[in-house]
Amino acid sequence: MFDTVIVRYGEIFLKSEFVRKKFEKELLRNIKFRLKNSGFEFKFIRKRHRIYIKSSNAEVMANSLRNVFGIVSISPAIQTNAEINSIRDTAVRFAESILNKGDTFAIITSRSGEHEFKSQDINSEIGGEILKRIKDVSVNLDNPEKRIYIEIRDDLAFVFDKKIPGVGGLPYKTQGRVVVLVSGGIDSSVAAWMMAKRGCELIGVHLGSEEEIKNIMEVLERYTGYKIKIYSFEYDNILERISDIAGKYTCIVCKRAMLRIASRIAKMENASGIVTGENIGQVASQTLKNLKVISSVYSPIYRPLIGMDKDEIIKIAKKIGVYEFSTSKSCRYVPGKPATTSKLKKIEEIENKIGIGDLIEKLMKGCQNQ
Ligand code: ATP
Ligand code: MG
Repeated sequence: MFDTVIVRYGEIFLKSEFVRKKFEKELLRNIKFRLKNSGFEFKFIRKRHRIYIKSSNAEVMANSLRNVFGIVSISPAIQTNAEINSIRDTAVRFAESILNKGDTFAIITSRSGEHEFKSQDINSEIGGEILKRIKDVSVNLDNPEKRIYIEIRDDLAFVFDKKIPGVGGLPYKTQGRVVVLVSGGIDSSVAAWMMAKRGCELIGVHLGSEEEIKNIMEVLERYTGYKIKIYSFEYDNILERISDIAGKYTCIVCKRAMLRIASRIAKMENASGIVTGENIGQVASQTLKNLKVISSVYSPIYRPLIGMDKDEIIKIAKKIGVYEFSTSKSCRYVPGKPATTSKLKKIEEIENKIGIGDLIEKLMKGCQNQ
């Protein structure tokens, strides 16, 4: 029945004309890439603040666009001409297919462009016609069982009944790149998703085997639409040496080493920041004092979860689908009594003793051509 998907996007049109155009272009590119990959045949019609996608498979297509960042809502719809007779015929036929005996309904029209009628004229014309043609239904404007929407844009009109919520945010890749330290745990997966939702292109860095984060990355790619580039490194040897020498400061030195590695990748990949899943007070290395020492390695570090409670983070993880794939493998190098406070000078002394610079240098060799 449906032949069109209406795509509504949000914040994009709050920006200046120039930025808005750029964002719309990127959103369109992201949608096109995803639909082509899924094998859909389609055609775009662009209007101010809307993208209309013509397809014989509009209902399935609408569902496949729910995860595209930047989309606020989606409706499978029937397209017709913006003439009162066409709109009436289409709306009545649609009403016949969705209204059951005893239903209450409302017609809700929105309009932009020059027309001989007002939205209210359409509401009463079509509402009246439905009452005439379909038995045992009635109008209820305040709390109807079924809403029939009519959206008129210039010479086109669309009839639909559902507004499927989209994921929101900004189109992927409109904000430049970030390197995200992904552990395979809940926190960094959610942090990565939150940055991608705000339009940042992700480059992943994982200390461990790529296999450990494969499922998480696949979930994130359902949203980004694009493959996320991953750099993974065998880290155990370095960590073992850190733990031998750093003792209770192991986690702090470890996190600084991770950031150093990520910063090298950020430089190679032309990224503008590093993202972690750190969160105030969650573990010993995440006290304010330790975060300060950790942060001195690189700037800017983005920590989108910094002020959230664990149950809030878990809620998002479940909603976006990473929860079931996240591994909370406990690290065997965590000391019995990790330091909750540290001084930069002391940590730097330990790092010199470890020879951390050389270890990272060695690790990075062979990475240049990836
Ligand atoms: P997560 O749930 O993301 O694993 P966490 O609560 O377990 O975080 P930590 O183990 O202290 O906390 O890690 C803090 C952050 O350091 C992580 O959120 C992630 O960004 C980064 N990180 C930790 N382990 C790794 C790893 N093996 N590879 C890449 N990044 C890591
Ligand atoms: Mg972890």
